[in-house]
Amino acid sequence: MVHLKKIESRGFKSLGSRQMSIPVERGFIAITGPNGSGKSNLLDAIIFCLGENSPKTLRVPNLGALIYDGSVEEQKPSSAKVTLQFDNSDRRIPFDSDSVTISRELKQSGESVYSLNGKHIQRNNLSEVLEVALITSRGLNIVLQGMITRISELIPDEKRKLIEQMVGVAQFDEKKDMAMKQLDDADRKLEIAMAKIGEIRDRVQQLEQERNDQLRVRQLEDQVSWLRATSLSSRLLRVRSITAQRKSAVADFSTKLQQLQSRQNEIRALIESLDIERSQLIKSAMDAGAAKVELGLGNSPTKLELCSEQGRRQPIMWTKSDKYSPLTIK
Ligand code: ATP
Ligand code: MG
Repeated sequence: MVHLKKIESRGFKSLGSRQMSIPVERGFIAITGPNGSGKSNLLDAIIFCLGENSPKTLRVPNLGALIYDGSVEEQKPSSAKVTLQFDNSDRRIPFDSDSVTISRELKQSGESVYSLNGKHIQRNNLSEVLEVALITSRGLNIVLQGMITRISELIPDEKRKLIEQMVGVAQFDEKKDMAMKQLDDADRKLEIAMAKIGEIRDRVQQLEQERNDQLRVRQLEDQVSWLRATSLSSRLLRVRSITAQRKSAVADFSTKLQQLQSRQNEIRALIESLDIERSQLIKSAMDAGAAKVELGLGNSPTKLELCSEQGRRQPIMWTKSDKYSPLTIK
């Protein structure tokens, strides 16, 4: 059976500012002393170390009053520390060692530091470990001052509850109630989570719809680009073919132009030869005296009428400078 082996204290209440150790091995029965000598403070030290936080239960106005403040000469210690050592030979405390040591140090700031076998531990975790062996600050394995009188005054139902608490049934009931409460909380959280899942599902559907729309838009844009490119390409082909046709037409025209130019040159050469021939004819006619020539004076053009041997009359225009110009040929 788990039992307390040793109590150590430093700076706790009237137990003094120096390190103090009380062995409470088997056979230890009682601590006696005059009123106000600190007997009850020893029990307060035990429940303090087990995690008790109620100033009323610890019989102080506030937790800071737990730090030793008894001597005017000595400086008030910076903290109050209590260490309990349990025999754990039967492993009731779920820790694989024959002896389990727990400690609590209360600093002036109000902060408490707990440790289990020398390692820091959270208060809740420490309580859970100790509760397995039914060690709690409110348990009846610690009978505080005035408790015997209160127990003797209890009604039967209250006594039954007390006994249940002693044998550990009440703790299981409390745990059951706590578990039921946690179950309710979990149910409520589950409902909230389900509602959120519903909202998220709606949102996911909405996002899916938006994504599909965007994909469709992108697909249509791609199609439009492709169609534009196709249209441009066919227009380009058409323009190239028209350009080729026009180039070939231009080539035809330039060939025809060359032909016409060479024809024009031929005609010019013919005209020149005819002019020369006509001049020779006029000259020979004048020389022969067979033609009648009329000459005008002033700015009017010179008019020459030539009668051929066949009697045809042909007008010829002369410039003022008497130079022949083929302005009109009839
Ligand atoms: P009784 O026989 O009357 O029950 P007791 O032996 O149980 O007495 P306690 O109640 O344990 O005595 O101790 C009370 C004493 O502890 C008081 O004298 C009180 O001044 C002293 N005390 C309480 N807190 C502190 C503290 N922080 N520093 C120093 N002394 C303190
Ligand atoms: Mg007392």
